[in-house]
Amino acid sequence: MISVQNLHKSYKDNEVLKGISLTVEKGQVVAIIGPSGSGKSTFLRCLNVLEQADKGQITIDDVAVDIANLTNKKTELLRHKTAMVFQNYSLFKNKTVKENITMPLVTVQKKSQREADSIAENLLAQVGLSDKENFYPNSLSGGQQQRVGIARAVALNPYAILFDEPTSALDPELVGEVLQVIQSLALSNMTMIVVTHEMSFARQVADHVVFMAEGYIVEQGTPEEIFNNPKQERTKKFLQQLS
Ligand code: ATP
Ligand code: MG
Repeated sequence: MISVQNLHKSYKDNEVLKGISLTVEKGQVVAIIGPSGSGKSTFLRCLNVLEQADKGQITIDDVAVDIANLTNKKTELLRHKTAMVFQNYSLFKNKTVKENITMPLVTVQKKSQREADSIAENLLAQVGLSDKENFYPNSLSGGQQQRVGIARAVALNPYAILFDEPTSALDPELVGEVLQVIQSLALSNMTMIVVTHEMSFARQVADHVVFMAEGYIVEQGTPEEIFNNPKQERTKKFLQQLS
C-alpha cells in the first residue's frame, strides 16, 4: 500500500502542496487530473523523493517515513520503492535502447550483466521493441522512446510506477501505443499513479481518480463518480472546460 498523510511542500513562500493525503492499494491504478500548476508533478516528485517535502508522512510498502525525520538511509529506501516515467522520456542519448535498461540494473542494483540483459530483452519484447535493442534513442519515434522509458521503469521492479504525463509530448497518432503499454501493465497488477490529461484513458484504466487544484485534493472517487457525477464546483468547472 501507498499511504500519504498531510504532505506539505513550499517553494519559498509559494505553498504548492497544502496537505495532501492519499491511499493507493497494491495493484491499483490511480489517475491524477487537474489544472496546470495545481501541484501534480510536485506531488509525484515528493513521492519519489526527487524533491523533499516539508512535512507529512509517506509509507510505501514496508518503508514508512516522517518527512521531518528523513535520514539519507530512509531517502534511499523510499526512492527505490518507485520508478518515474517522465513526459520527455529522459533516456540516455549516448546509450543504446538495451543499455538504457541494463545500466541502472548493473550500476545501482548490482545485477550481473547477463541477468540485466535477460531482463531487458524480456521487457523490450513486451513493449514490442525487440528489433530496436541496439538502436540509439534519437533514431526512435517518440512513442517508441516512451515505451523504452516504461520498460526501464518496469525493469527496476519497483513497488509502484509514477507516470508524469507520459503521452503529452507525443504526436496524437503515437499516444495510443503508449497508453496500450500502460494499460497492459495495469492488467498485470502493477501499482501505478498516472498524472494525465487523457481523460478517456483515466476513465477506462484508472480504478480511482484524484482531482487536484491549487495544492489540494479537491475530490476523489471512482472514474464514474468523478466524470459522471462530480460533487465539487471546482471539479465540474475543470471538466466542463475540457469538453
Ligand atoms: P502542469 O499540469 O502544468 O504540469 P502541475 O500540476 O504539474 O502543472 P507543478 O509542476 O507541480 O504543477 O507546479 C506547481 C507549482 O509549483 C507551480 O506554481 C510551479 O511554478 C511551482 N514549482 C514547481 N517546481 C518548482 C521549482 N523547482 N521551484 C519553484 N517553484 C516550482
Ligand atoms: Mg506537471
